[in-house]
Amino acid sequence: MEALLRDSYGRAIRDLRVSVTDKCNFRCFYCLPHGSPQETAPKAEILSYEEIERAVSVFASLGVERVRITGGEPMLRRDIETLVSKLARVPGVKDLSLTTNAFNLSERAAGLKAAGLGRVTVSLDSLRRAAFHEMTGVDMLGRVLEGVRAARRVGLTPVKVNAVIVRGYNEGEIADMAAFAREHAVVMRFIEYMPLDSGHGWSREKVVSGAEIRAAVNERFLLVARRGERGSETATRYRFADGAPGEVGIIAPVTEPFCGACSRVRLTADGQIRTCLFSKAEHSLRGLLRGGATREELADHVRAVVMQKEPRHYINETHFEQPARTMSLIGG
Ligand code: SAM
Repeated sequence: MEALLRDSYGRAIRDLRVSVTDKCNFRCFYCLPHGSPQETAPKAEILSYEEIERAVSVFASLGVERVRITGGEPMLRRDIETLVSKLARVPGVKDLSLTTNAFNLSERAAGLKAAGLGRVTVSLDSLRRAAFHEMTGVDMLGRVLEGVRAARRVGLTPVKVNAVIVRGYNEGEIADMAAFAREHAVVMRFIEYMPLDSGHGWSREKVVSGAEIRAAVNERFLLVARRGERGSETATRYRFADGAPGEVGIIAPVTEPFCGACSRVRLTADGQIRTCLFSKAEHSLRGLLRGGATREELADHVRAVVMQKEPRHYINETHFEQPARTMSLIGG
């Protein structure tokens, strides 16, 4: 194996999030405002499955072990199962997962599993039809719930369920979502609202803090922190004190930043490496991939880019500026 990827602060890079499309069929207001025309890259700029496979194999040869396919909505990309089967075979990739809004997961979960996918994360912001519709811009709660069930049925487990908690929308549902985790034996992950929305509607007042989320769950179900090192995980993890199935994770990048242990980099659908969700700069890999670069040249480029990884995000500082690209374009 070539020397492991490390940034200039000594952080080992083990996780790669690969966005496969910048298109989405939902309009979650905290990401893309409702009704907004989406600015997407021309098709010719989007990496092919072969290019993605090559890029992932370079990252994996440098020590990346966990790969998450995301977007936009990754299941809008044609035959995503083909990409899954390619990435599942890349030497060094130990954990292959996919983040989806689950609009057609119930029909495709078995095929994804057969193609070699390890597990899925499903976004689900509300268990109430009207609030779900309001937050996502689509009336698809029933289909998403079906998708969660199907993922469990075929063994795309542990199924993680992501809910972005935004004050004024769904903070009253936190304990109900914890109940959902117990009932369906899933990992319910509550995420603080981050300034990554295209409508620039983010404000500190709308952020429901990790501490508030913890308190809201604890009021109904006592939580016990899971023992062991948190490592580079985004979430602090809890089990239910009464031994019920399921788990709760709290992802609090705004009020409890975890940049010091960050092990992630991202590859956008148009082939740019991003070293932080909040990066101001992107580093093209596409040019090299398409310009006949050797594997060693690609690896050298990746190493050099990773050395520029930011020490931390600056959300809590006065000079903070939101990145130009939204989560749907970066790949969440
Ligand atoms: N379309 C897929 C989905 O819905 O899961 C994958 C892409 S989506 C951008 C990935 C995750 O980013 C979702 O769980 C979403 O809720 C989260 N996300 C998007 N914008 C966010 C924001 N402003 N703050 C926190 N999380 C956000």
